[in-house]
Amino acid sequence: IRKIGVLTSGGDAPGMNAAIRAVVRTALHNDLEVYGIFNGYLGLYENNIRKLDRQDVSDRINRGGTFLGSARFPEFKEESVRRQAIKNLEQHGIDALVVIGGDGSYMGAKCLTEMGYPCIGLPGTIDNDVPGTEYTIGYNTALNCVLDAIDRLRDTSSSHRRISLVEIMGRHCGDLTLAAAVAGGAEYAIIPEKPFSEESLLRALDKGDSKGKKHAIICITEKITDTHELARRIEAHTGQETRATVLGHIQRGGAPGAFDRVLASQMGAFSVALLMEGEGGRCVGIQNNRLVHHDIIEAIEKMPRPFNQDLFDTFKKLV
Ligand code: ADP
Repeated sequence: IRKIGVLTSGGDAPGMNAAIRAVVRTALHNDLEVYGIFNGYLGLYENNIRKLDRQDVSDRINRGGTFLGSARFPEFKEESVRRQAIKNLEQHGIDALVVIGGDGSYMGAKCLTEMGYPCIGLPGTIDNDVPGTEYTIGYNTALNCVLDAIDRLRDTSSSHRRISLVEIMGRHCGDLTLAAAVAGGAEYAIIPEKPFSEESLLRALDKGDSKGKKHAIICITEKITDTHELARRIEAHTGQETRATVLGHIQRGGAPGAFDRVLASQMGAFSVALLMEGEGGRCVGIQNNRLVHHDIIEAIEKMPRPFNQDLFDTFKKLV
């Protein structure tokens, strides 16, 4: 192997730059050439590809987002589009590709691998919903951002005896919501892994009121229900002022924290080591504090993400 490509795809996440940097520096350290593909699979299709050197990744480790850019490009599901992408890679003489992204991006990498082009997937998303790893790059930074927001809401909510409903990202994964609820000392967590009963939420709020709680913080994962509507119904039921805060893209931005920078650096270096050993079609993860790699096809098809039931049970005892 002589030349490798790297791209970021799907939702951006803090730490992606640190991962790109690690891929580039590790490759150069081993006398490999590295090519950056700009704007994810879209740039791959459009041949937006450029050779990277050390300086291209200088001053990037501390920056949020991804300097390579990212894109949603549903056309990549078409085989003819992917064939063109592979042609572009071959034209540059690029032997293998590192894809940094979420589960959608993994699907793209899996498809390329199935077409005979070796890819390595690195988990980059704040949602923590990627198979084959306990933590994704960006998750921890986003968690601290959500926690900071909850702390701020707590200050103002308890001053006014207000109920705060906080909508948190995660798509179909409640990890970010549940961890933020535990760390933020929230009263209630609504997550996609558990059926949502509005009735039991309202009952819990009544109970909290009788316990003399000055405020209530309710964490809810996006896409479960209309959060603003839910806030109105809570207010009608409790008679207490209720505000919904949708954190939105605030959660995705900002400088990556130490955990994500270290994780991204390790994973980026590991992906290059795997390619040098001739491994393709793998995805990288961290499990039991060790770097691991799995067959990317098997990971997507057969490795459902485990739900942390213990943490959920603990949370319920602490409210
Ligand atoms: P994420 O990677 O953060 O989950 P998306 O789900 O938007 O984000 O996926 C990112 C990109 O990966 C998509 O825009 C598309 O280009 C590609 N992709 C997603 N699903 C597939 C698929 N089934 N086959 C091929 N490419 C896919």
